[in-house]
Amino acid sequence: MASKILSEFLNEHLTELKNKGLYNVIDPLESSNGPMIKIAGKELINLSSNNYLGLATDPRLKEAAMQATRTYGVGAGAVRTINGTLHIHVMLEDKIAEFKHTEAAIAYQSGFNCNMAAISAVMDEQDAILSDEWNHASIIDGCRLSKAKIIRYKHSDMDDLRTQAKQAKDSGFYKKIMVITDGVFSMDGDIAKLPEIAKIAEEFDLITYVDDAHGSGVLGKGAGTVKHFGLSDDIDFQIGTLSKAIGVVGGYVAGKKDVIDWLKVRSRPFLFSTALPPGDVAACIKAFEIMISSTELHDRLWRNGDYLKKGLKDLGYNIGQSQTPITPCIIGDEMQTQEFSKRLYQEGVYAKAIVFPTVPKGTGRVRNMPTAAHSREMLDQALAVYEKAGRELSVI
Ligand SMILES: *Cc1c(COP(=O)(O)O)cnc(C)c1O
Repeated sequence: MASKILSEFLNEHLTELKNKGLYNVIDPLESSNGPMIKIAGKELINLSSNNYLGLATDPRLKEAAMQATRTYGVGAGAVRTINGTLHIHVMLEDKIAEFKHTEAAIAYQSGFNCNMAAISAVMDEQDAILSDEWNHASIIDGCRLSKAKIIRYKHSDMDDLRTQAKQAKDSGFYKKIMVITDGVFSMDGDIAKLPEIAKIAEEFDLITYVDDAHGSGVLGKGAGTVKHFGLSDDIDFQIGTLSKAIGVVGGYVAGKKDVIDWLKVRSRPFLFSTALPPGDVAACIKAFEIMISSTELHDRLWRNGDYLKKGLKDLGYNIGQSQTPITPCIIGDEMQTQEFSKRLYQEGVYAKAIVFPTVPKGTGRVRNMPTAAHSREMLDQALAVYEKAGRELSVI
């Protein structure tokens, strides 16, 4: 018999979410996740993917994946530390280190897994972690897993970080203290103040950890936020994902060789979860080769991002404080945000509503993710829809 207490719990909470307009309905795609997508037979301009450089559908990556699949099969067959490490896994890690300007790198099955892996491999209950209050869910979970004391500081507030770092250091309670931040904050598109963070870290002897999921491929000519600020030698942990700009799946940690050596023997997803599939690994290698050989896709991403941002701003939208191609249109009320997103959908633009608990209550937004793969015509068409829908619903 199914549990009665469980069904009561689910019924109560699902109803509550639906009543508040917070229940997320998933729309399966009938196409690839390119600049145009098809949902329920309808063609839409796609402004919701993280496929920044358009690499998810790049023919060169597809070909690399098919070749490697023919050679090695569809699965790696084991965890990395038994015999799931193919020579292409090592090639990928070398490529990542080259691209990130670090001594070494280690690949995981996802960006989420990196944060499960790396934080608890070095931090424990005798330590403390200073964490930006807007950090990604996987950072929060990774911190919890480590059992270290979690000290949240106000978003990008360097005075608060300094005060909390001093307090933690002076208390004498903690063996190690880490500061951890997103490189680019995914909901607003603002960039972490890494030069100040590095300075505070030096002053209080903090371990530095930057999750650059949205910065890699985007900032620092593609090499990421740390490179953008010229801090490649100063940040201990650089986390990246292979699933956003790189367009495939997986994640990595880049840093000094001894850091990576330690993760290879102590990080649990590396030891206890099967390695990335060969086709994905080969596609990722190809993506790094493309990014190393030319900044063309990166440059196109920025041109498209700047164009869309200017267009939305000129229409009167509140696009917040973004410093990257991520372009939120902040609406506020959750229900109105959902309704606006639905109207965009009807008019042929897929821009997902993002509401509490992903962002703070009352800051509901439609978030736009322009990519290198969008044409100018697509962006103009999207802007025309934004003008029409915005006027209709009195959002602008
Ligand atoms: C998207 C994201 C992740 C998760 O990466 P996946 O590869 O999709 O698991 C981790 N951290 C941050 C900051 C992210 O934005």
